Amino acid sequence: MPELPETETIARDLDAALAGAVITGTTVTHADVLRGVSAADADAAFRDVRVARVWRRAKLVVCELAGGTVAGGAVLAVQPRFTGALLLDAAAPDDPYVCVRWSLHDGRVLAYRDVRRLGTVSLFDAQGWHTYQRTLGIEPLDPALTAAEFSGYVRSSTRAIKAVLMDQRVIAGVGNIYATEALWGARLDPSRRACDLSTAEGDRLFDVLRELLPRAIAARGTSFRDYRDAHGGRGRFVEQLQAYGRSGAPCPRCGARLVGSDAIDGRMTVFCAWCQR
Ligand SMILES: [Zn+2]
Repeated sequence: MPELPETETIARDLDAALAGAVITGTTVTHADVLRGVSAADADAAFRDVRVARVWRRAKLVVCELAGGTVAGGAVLAVQPRFTGALLLDAAAPDDPYVCVRWSLHDGRVLAYRDVRRLGTVSLFDAQGWHTYQRTLGIEPLDPALTAAEFSGYVRSSTRAIKAVLMDQRVIAGVGNIYATEALWGARLDPSRRACDLSTAEGDRLFDVLRELLPRAIAARGTSFRDYRDAHGGRGRFVEQLQAYGRSGAPCPRCGARLVGSDAIDGRMTVFCAWCQR
């Protein structure tokens, strides 16, 4: 599933390619991904709307729209979840997995494609977006965020540290791939109660995330299975994964066999029982 680095890659690419583009028509072929707008209303809602800016919040690609009928400007927020992708001129015209197509004034086509259709395409007004954003946790790459603040948020929970890292209401944008990698990098047992981490361990986890996530963005994210960028390309960070997807392989740090477990919230966790304590 696209996490922070993948969503950031999509958003940066689309901002460079789409800023200033005007939507001239919308076609909905699978309406079940839509939120906040019906299939019948989608064409009118997006018609002659200009893409002002594209950015990322949590695991959402956020398109700020100007000039439409929505007071205060509308926000199109796309959450690709498991198999979703926003593709710019990279989806075949007869692709059965395309759910929504937006035609642009210059002939280009932006498509939301989703095989399992667990992702969402949401239209918010300014107030609705503001309210929704308040349900999301802190951004781990926020320049204003300090190690002490991060550590405080994380260590206030009695749940497993990995579950806390993946909770979007606490830390936004981190999912299974980067939680697994961050805990391996910080040499922390994923099942430890977050509240039992020392201040130094909380700080170490913060430092690892602040190094890991930008490095993954630089590699354009991780294409483990489904993730594709806005041009249909793959992320290269899979080559740098140390633990995720490597159950049974030797730990790159100590050589012990990495183990996989689904004991934390039913999600696969790979870790080194020897050097993650
Ligand atoms: Zn190890």
